[in-house]
Amino acid sequence: MSKIQFKAESKRLLEMMINSIYTHKEVFLRELISNASDAIDKLYYKALTDDSINFEQENYYIKVVPNKENRTLTITDSGIGMTKEELENNLGTIAKSGSLAFKKENELKDGYDIIGQFGVGFYAAFMVADVVTVVSKALNSDQAYKWESEGAEGYTIEPIEKDSVGTEIILKIKETTEDESYDEYLDEYRLKSIIKKYSDFIRYPIKMDISGRRPKEDSETEFEDYQEEQIINSMVPIWRKNKNELTDEDYQKFYEEKHYGFDKPLKHVHISVDGTIRYNSILYIPEKIPFDFYSKEFEKGLELYSNGVLIMNKCADLLPDYFSFVKGMVDSEDLSLNISREILQHDRQLKLIAKNINKKIKSELVALLRNDREKYEEFYNSFGRQLKYGVYSDYGTHKDELQDLLMFYSSKEGKLVTLDEYVSRMSEEQKYIYYASGESIERIEKLPQTELVSEKGFEILYFTDDIDEFAIRMLMNYKEKEFKSVSSGDLGIEADENETEKDSVEYKDLFDHMKNTLAGKVKDVRVSKRLKTHPVCLATDGELTIEMEKILSMMPD
Ligand code: ADP
Ligand code: MG
Repeated sequence: MSKIQFKAESKRLLEMMINSIYTHKEVFLRELISNASDAIDKLYYKALTDDSINFEQENYYIKVVPNKENRTLTITDSGIGMTKEELENNLGTIAKSGSLAFKKENELKDGYDIIGQFGVGFYAAFMVADVVTVVSKALNSDQAYKWESEGAEGYTIEPIEKDSVGTEIILKIKETTEDESYDEYLDEYRLKSIIKKYSDFIRYPIKMDISGRRPKEDSETEFEDYQEEQIINSMVPIWRKNKNELTDEDYQKFYEEKHYGFDKPLKHVHISVDGTIRYNSILYIPEKIPFDFYSKEFEKGLELYSNGVLIMNKCADLLPDYFSFVKGMVDSEDLSLNISREILQHDRQLKLIAKNINKKIKSELVALLRNDREKYEEFYNSFGRQLKYGVYSDYGTHKDELQDLLMFYSSKEGKLVTLDEYVSRMSEEQKYIYYASGESIERIEKLPQTELVSEKGFEILYFTDDIDEFAIRMLMNYKEKEFKSVSSGDLGIEADENETEKDSVEYKDLFDHMKNTLAGKVKDVRVSKRLKTHPVCLATDGELTIEMEKILSMMPD
């Protein structure tokens, strides 16, 4: 039996496709500019292998021209152009990528950054245009052609005059309706910002005529309008530059330009990895907590570029929650994107990059702690809480990774110390790492429970954050030393047992009376050796300390 071909309502399909792939209409420009850049890349590649073509870098650029009167937006490139067949094949067939074919045909190896591969980007133009006209003259061809389409109904092709090799794409921008404004795609400042946002690192200049107003010559009162051709994109992304050529100011400027934060970054990290997975990344540790950090609106994540083209503003998968304060970007050519380029395939590469970045942040923080204590403490005061949550969360999965980054206020040093520092100061006699929880350092200092430990000369860590004790419970021990709350029943400090026993007998009636009076509130009343100047203190012998119970009882069920 012969197979019958599916019939498809191509008009509906096209509409469905262009309106469902992209979440933002503005990305049509990114797609057309990427195609233009690909076309120049192809010409460049041809020139490398064909001496008859000479490629002068300065002759290759992309130009974007809005025209409000005609409601047109034109994107011109001096790339390789398309023959009549190519116009038919590449633009007349949805999901056919001439660029992918070019890569395969020419067996392009690494270093050629052709972006196209899905064969649908071009149609994004129909999100904003009623009519799309493509005028193109291919390399080594005498005749230029005009391809025109209103999207759904198909297209026409006819010969046309065009002098130079390359392609011109003319969009007839849709009329603004009640629901949707399209006028913005004719506005030079809006266009400029879209180019900056998505295509800043396209390797060829993207030019626009930008208008301005300036004082007339020889006049102080009169002004004139003028237009000036400007290159909109930065072309070479800072992350592809050599670290040695960049100054702290360069990184700081990038931080500001990208609006990563309003503060100055405390530290930046520039990573270039060229192994099984290739990527460049610039990461920042901010100085201050962003104002929305603890709000629901806060979204963690890094900017994600594929080969210089912005794919995602905040890729959350690149950062674990405990490093959610990190800002910055990642650019990789090895990502598998889906056709919208806006949804990543949850792939191995991304996971590898995330793992890599995670390690790097950790080692940078360790280095900061070692080499610039003051800065680290500044960082820790802002984001230490996040690290402690990291230790506690996910059932302690990350505790080994994070424990060396923790700091607590020390009774002995009067400042923040690391667990490693604490343990290295422990005397042989000391069995535990002692800690005391309370609202503030001042409050903890007055706790009767600290007296015996302090008198023994043992250091106590002060826990003033709600999360502290929970995090420590998750750690359980550090370098084989167990943590011990100063309010726990057994402090592991030897007391004079005989004396205690004698007192217990002597005051038995008093204790019984107290126990009866406090029935249901305390389990036992006994003589304590830990008190020096205070008459009484509370101790626990269960799993939870009093502080933890307080916090838990405040939590909603
Ligand atoms: P993709 O870029 O993923 O291949 P597109 O739908 O964006 O898919 O473009 C389809 C094809 O049309 C491209 O692969 C390319 O061969 C051709 N094309 C599009 N724009 C241009 C252009 N400005 N110059 C030359 N060829 C182009
Ligand atoms: Mg494309």
